[in-house]
Amino acid sequence: MSAKVIDGKAFAAKVRGQVAEHVTRLKDEHGITPGLAVVLVGEDPASQVYVRSKGKMTLEVGMKSVEHKLDANTSEADLLALIDQLNNDDTIHGILVQLPLPKHLNEDLVINSIDPSKDVDGFHISNVGLLGTGQKSMVPCTPLGCLMMLRDHHGSLSGLNAVVVGRSNIVGKPMSQLLLGDSCTVTIAHSRTKDLPDVVRGADIVVAAVGRPEMVPGDWIKPGATVIDVGINRIDAPEKGEGKTRLVGDCHYESCAEVAGAITPVPGGVGPMTIACLLANTVTSCCRANGLDEPEGLTA
Ligand code: NDP
Repeated sequence: MSAKVIDGKAFAAKVRGQVAEHVTRLKDEHGITPGLAVVLVGEDPASQVYVRSKGKMTLEVGMKSVEHKLDANTSEADLLALIDQLNNDDTIHGILVQLPLPKHLNEDLVINSIDPSKDVDGFHISNVGLLGTGQKSMVPCTPLGCLMMLRDHHGSLSGLNAVVVGRSNIVGKPMSQLLLGDSCTVTIAHSRTKDLPDVVRGADIVVAAVGRPEMVPGDWIKPGATVIDVGINRIDAPEKGEGKTRLVGDCHYESCAEVAGAITPVPGGVGPMTIACLLANTVTSCCRANGLDEPEGLTA
């Protein structure tokens, strides 16, 4: 293995440390405590785990954490009323509605009812438009985390060829916009892309956000390229015992690591950065709401 392993866990701890410092300064110098509200509808086990760890880390960096757990049958009107209440609560600077929502709720409507300045997930249509036009916005957490790791590794990204595999609204598209914003030459690949291996072979930076276990093998990777593996896939792991599973990314780690210059592992790569960036976005939102300078290095 020759690639440098980009340690997302350590990087995320550093980002959370920076966030905590800003929180302390906001409290000490301005008497403000940033607040994050997380809304969970229903009992999806994976969502419950995410919400729990978001709440724990929010408290650990010294912020106020509010959790609203609503019944799976909650009506759209009740959910919108709660969001309205949070929009008007000055102690709350970030609002996150955990997705996916139960089928009877219109996700677009719900997300677009969040005050865009408190939309720390960056999914509100206004933030999507602001990002797309290079204006100050709330940036989706996972792509923001990837960008931070890329900037840290490369310094300048200007002129590099970046291939983003996946065009979802939450990862692929905003990732592409951020890379474009840093002057990469960006190709967005998806399920209809022809000659995907050749497209990926042209990349100095590969961001894989597909949701297919180990789909990208090492022989698609240009020697020395940086591989950011966003995928989180659970697969059977009979070698660990009957019924056991393990997490893998969208890239085949061992073969990619032999060719790449740098690579993020799964787990321990992009994943931890997502929550760290959620906390960073909440501090950013709090600073903007109070007319204060934004924390350096924690925004796009
Ligand atoms: P989506 O399912 O929304 O999007 C997947 C994308 O991959 C689509 O654009 C799809 O193309 C494309 N795709 C599917 N099959 C292929 C293929 N064979 N070749 C090329 N492209 C293909 O997924 P998300 O973006 O939400 O998530 C992607 C992965 O990232 C998942 O594993 C998810 O769990 C993980 N993830 C991790 C996060 C983290 O914190 N680390 C956060 C968010 C997601 P098309 O549009 O043509 O269908």
